[in-house]
Amino acid sequence: MDDLGTRLEELREAGLERRMPCVAARDGSRVVLDGRALTLLCSNDYLGLADDPRVREAAAEAAVRWGAGAGASRLVSGNLALHGDLEEELADFKRRERCVLFGSGYLANTGIVAALAGRGQAVLSDQLNHASIIDGCRLARAQTMVYRHADLDHLEHGLRAASEGALIVTDGVFSMDGDVAPLAGIVGLARRYGARVMVDEAHATGALGPGGRGAVAAAGLGDEVDVVVGTLGKALGSYGAYACCDATTADWLVNTARTLIFSTALPPPALGAARTALAIVRDEPHRVERLRRNAGLLRGALAEEGLFVGDGCTQIVPVGVGPAGAAVRACERALAGGVFAQAIRPPTVPTGTSRLRLTAMATHTEGELRNAASVVADAVDRKRDPTCEEAGRPARGRTDRKAPRVAAA
Ligand code: PMP
Repeated sequence: MDDLGTRLEELREAGLERRMPCVAARDGSRVVLDGRALTLLCSNDYLGLADDPRVREAAAEAAVRWGAGAGASRLVSGNLALHGDLEEELADFKRRERCVLFGSGYLANTGIVAALAGRGQAVLSDQLNHASIIDGCRLARAQTMVYRHADLDHLEHGLRAASEGALIVTDGVFSMDGDVAPLAGIVGLARRYGARVMVDEAHATGALGPGGRGAVAAAGLGDEVDVVVGTLGKALGSYGAYACCDATTADWLVNTARTLIFSTALPPPALGAARTALAIVRDEPHRVERLRRNAGLLRGALAEEGLFVGDGCTQIVPVGVGPAGAAVRACERALAGGVFAQAIRPPTVPTGTSRLRLTAMATHTEGELRNAASVVADAVDRKRDPTCEEAGRPARGRTDRKAPRVAAA
């Protein structure tokens, strides 16, 4: 125990201690934290559907009709008609033959990578992929090649060395940088080298592509991506995740994805909420438009404040701070200014690239975003804290994450 205490103290000293801020109340893009009302600038509830009255109602109705929990895994007795209904609706939304639900995005990625790439098989994974993909590679005991972020030449170099049937896996929109993967190039290489492609659309669904159908749809790619993963816990305002693919792959996942087989099925309230949220995304495309407009507004307002916002175009906007301690202090100054913008530090991002990760929501007003940009600019100002990076430069292009490698993960 002492040892854990010492290690915690070391984390604290390095500015890396993590705490769970307690939200006492929420209302759209406003939250109450420590008794103070704040503008929320770090939520993945991009379309504001988590507290939409229709989505809340649907969760409550599903609980009343079906119960609070599924009671067992899908393969035992927990497979309710509701699961199949949502799977059909998601497959239709993503224009794919089939859909398979998972307990969460984390469970989907770890389970699917391991199901598609066994021990010793090759997985090519972008350097900035989400932790759940990295953990999936580890679980699979695959031969993992981490290619430089969005670098098609480096990916091709890895593919040349890999045997046929390798798996390429990438975030669609990178969760901490907000840039979009070069999907057309990745699919082209996959075709040339006989590889499979898996894309995680956690931050793309509801945000990119026609009607918010995602980054794969935005790139005009459909069946060419073997598995499209997405989560229900972000733009769809609920909890859980899904994989869209062809029928054979879906049956393979049901038979081999351990995180699906050995885990209780999603509970009815999460399913009811997700079904209604999906219907709202389809029926009210102006929400997706509004999210895009707000993403542009936030980026524009930060640039006007003199901050470097990079060349991304999505609702995720990283404001570089540099050292972990400086990011924590910037977060505290933003809170004091009435803005909740979380500090993101290692191991979530590479050492030396800590940042405030800002996210626009469809429900923000223009006034809220402009005010937030000014508060954030003040929070990362070098005059207030000389350890902050100049003009909030984001991490891209100068990451010091471990050198790309070919190695068993
Ligand atoms: N993939 C990405 C890219 C993510 O950002 C996240 C969550 N931050 C996940 C997967 C995990 O999804 P979930 O929260 O549903 O477990």
